[in-house]
Amino acid sequence: MDTMDLDYNTRIEQLREREYPQLEGNLVFSYAPLIMSAYISFLSDTVYLDHAGTTPYAKSLIERFSADMISNLYGNPHSASSASQLSTRRTEDVRLRLLGLFNADPDDFDIVFAANATAGIKLVMEAFRDHGGGFWYGYHRDSHTSLVGVREAAARHRCFTSDAEVEGWLSGSIIDEGSSGLGLFAYPAQSNMNGRRLPLDWAGRLRCSAPKTDQAVYTLLDAAAYVSSSPLDLSNAALAPDFTVMSLYKIFGFPDLGVLIVRKGSGHVLKTRKYFGGGTVDMVLCMKEQWHAKKSESLHDQLEDGTLPIHSIIALDSAMNVHQEIFGALERISRHTAFLARNLYHGLRDLRHWNNVAVCEIYKDAESEYGDTRSQGPVVAFNIRNSQKAWVSNTEVEKLAAIKNIQLRTGGLCNPGGIASSLGLAPWEMKENFSAGQRCGNENDILGGKPTGMIRVSLGAMSSVRDIDAFLDFMNEFFVDNVAPVPAAPLLGTEASAQSQYHVESLTVYPIKSCAGWKVPPDMPWEVRKEGLAWDREWCLVHQGTGTALSQKRYPRMALIRPIIDLETGLLRVRYVGGGTTRGGSPEVAVPLSADPNYFAGPDGFRTSPANVCGDKVTARVYKMQEIITFFTEALGIPCQLARFPAVGSHGVSSRHAKAHLQQHQLRTAPQIPGAFPAAPPGEQGTIQRPILLSNESPILTISRSSLNRLNEQIKANGGKAAQAEVFRANIVVAEALQAQPGTEQPYAEDHWRYMQIGRQLFQMLGSCRRCQMVCVDQNTAVKNEEPFVTLAKTRRFDGKVWFGQHGCHVQMQDRSSPHTQNPTIKVGDSVRAFGEDDDLPHGLVS
Ligand SMILES: *Cc1c(COP(=O)(O)O)cnc(C)c1O
Repeated sequence: MDTMDLDYNTRIEQLREREYPQLEGNLVFSYAPLIMSAYISFLSDTVYLDHAGTTPYAKSLIERFSADMISNLYGNPHSASSASQLSTRRTEDVRLRLLGLFNADPDDFDIVFAANATAGIKLVMEAFRDHGGGFWYGYHRDSHTSLVGVREAAARHRCFTSDAEVEGWLSGSIIDEGSSGLGLFAYPAQSNMNGRRLPLDWAGRLRCSAPKTDQAVYTLLDAAAYVSSSPLDLSNAALAPDFTVMSLYKIFGFPDLGVLIVRKGSGHVLKTRKYFGGGTVDMVLCMKEQWHAKKSESLHDQLEDGTLPIHSIIALDSAMNVHQEIFGALERISRHTAFLARNLYHGLRDLRHWNNVAVCEIYKDAESEYGDTRSQGPVVAFNIRNSQKAWVSNTEVEKLAAIKNIQLRTGGLCNPGGIASSLGLAPWEMKENFSAGQRCGNENDILGGKPTGMIRVSLGAMSSVRDIDAFLDFMNEFFVDNVAPVPAAPLLGTEASAQSQYHVESLTVYPIKSCAGWKVPPDMPWEVRKEGLAWDREWCLVHQGTGTALSQKRYPRMALIRPIIDLETGLLRVRYVGGGTTRGGSPEVAVPLSADPNYFAGPDGFRTSPANVCGDKVTARVYKMQEIITFFTEALGIPCQLARFPAVGSHGVSSRHAKAHLQQHQLRTAPQIPGAFPAAPPGEQGTIQRPILLSNESPILTISRSSLNRLNEQIKANGGKAAQAEVFRANIVVAEALQAQPGTEQPYAEDHWRYMQIGRQLFQMLGSCRRCQMVCVDQNTAVKNEEPFVTLAKTRRFDGKVWFGQHGCHVQMQDRSSPHTQNPTIKVGDSVRAFGEDDDLPHGLVS
């Protein structure tokens, strides 16, 4: 595998150079040899060249096909005319020839023509679906979307998430309960995502190992990606898959055809297919009596509905000839492309930025090896990072590639399981991304600091060494940082100083409005968004009658409803610690973090309950699952429902905005330094709008431990009970550094902060938080006290209102080229730097 097929490579390069000099400079890395596009562009005169098969090939093929059409008269098959007979004869010849290409004995196999590989899959699916008892469907994680879709027709299905799981199932050590009766096991011979090749012996092993009488599991092999650059050998019918599908245009580029190859020994299962059409029946009665007789001569007669695409089938003959003449055996293409892919892989793997950070994150399976045609096809899937380790958007890559006449593919690549496992995306994340507007093929491709798709470069019969070099040059030119980039925001490029006076003591999110908070574990970086900390106040409880959002002010027991965010399992777990639920209700309920419309009530999955949150009318989605409704209703003893905000899928974005603004007591009379802070308090009506979810006034609430200590000293001095930090429902508690001695603390210094830097993130302070008697609910017992409200009212009353804590919001940076700006997070222990009225604006911020 280490040596190049020099003869092959030279021939391809000469062909391209000699015959089509005007196309020089185009590289096409589209998945599988999509020669089709070369063919189309050939006809339309566009400068476009497909690497896999290219214009020289397309030209010869079309000329050959055209000569055939001109010199023969082909009619619609199924009649006695000589033109019709000629079509039939040619079709049967091509069938035979195609079987020969895969060493498939016509005694053992039949070929069914279909529009594409997907249509072949659907034929199998229809037959299994129409089987009386329904069927079990097992499919491998690496399956193409077209295979995954079959599960919707199955009675029971299972996704095998690894090869080991399949092995375990084949050997009988893993039992799938659902797999009794009729079953279908499907997998790709080669992943269309990263070109990894899967074991071809699974079909044979399944057949040999299926002794149980109550079980008949057949195999469907998706060879669409595999055959584009590899021979497929079906010479041993006993070990071959029962059904094999492929797209012929991925081998030959043209014609646009797919096939289903059926192992005759298993053909009977397809006879349960109920549908018949012209071409697949011998006789149909439909007036007085309803009766039909299906064709019985051959399998393909029973499965090819309607008129065959005869011209395409005849063109296939020319395609096989020209392909053979130019490229030789499929085996040779396989060796050549394996050699190129290995070089490409090594080239990409070794690209380094100035600081030795790898440029490409390549999605290669641990077990596969480039150059080894058994484990890996000639495809490389990857993403690009800059020298700061931030992801480069695929959309940007595509734009630059287009300028350089490089055709490659990016995005989700029609491989949901492969993408999710390679990119480490949990189902709730994928649904979140979907809700956030991400769709296959749109520009929104880095969400929450993770790429949502990848770049795929595929090699084919027409690829040459020069293409690999050109592609690596392109990568070097545009994506390798040879020198350190000039930091756009130096302040935020570094941590807040280690000597800073404050640090983050705790971070708390309140997933369900007015219920207990959940403390973010120490050292866990937590995402900050425009609307606040991730998962903060996404849910609320609404009264079933009035639709009003419930609050602790009226229902103190809400403090005893304790949610936990479990990202591992993708669940919001909610526990009620008040005990004594009526009717023995469950003490815990789990709510999926996924915003799946199926969980919600009403048509389209949601009831636009016009909930009322703090006087704002919002559209919240109400959960319809009875156990969720029962849990909350029993816990609080009032009819209520859990709702989620915003109404995902309808408008998507929050329509609520922060109301907080700086208060008079926070403004010093000292003259403003020109250019320092905006003269007008930010956040006033008509100025900047800051989205919030269900929090009362602003995205993020911060309190200071020093201020709380001062308050509690005052409470205790009057014989009252000290207040817990929890009653203030802050997201961030900042504390002064350990060396701050009692007495040297600076309580209420935060009143005068205008910005606050935590770690590498910047927050703008929006004004003090006004307090009410809700701070008097003890968060452990749900019992109301006098304190701390009484003491607050005596010590922190300005303009007749009581204030404690500061509203704020995260400042998003324009420059999104570092991990800190792509995925802003903060964590417990981060140092905090305060910017007061008189301090200079943090660097990079303009007022
Ligand atoms: C391309 C491809 C398909 C879909 O083929 P169509 O001909 O478009 O239906 C299915 N599976 C794999 C692995 C593929 O590469």
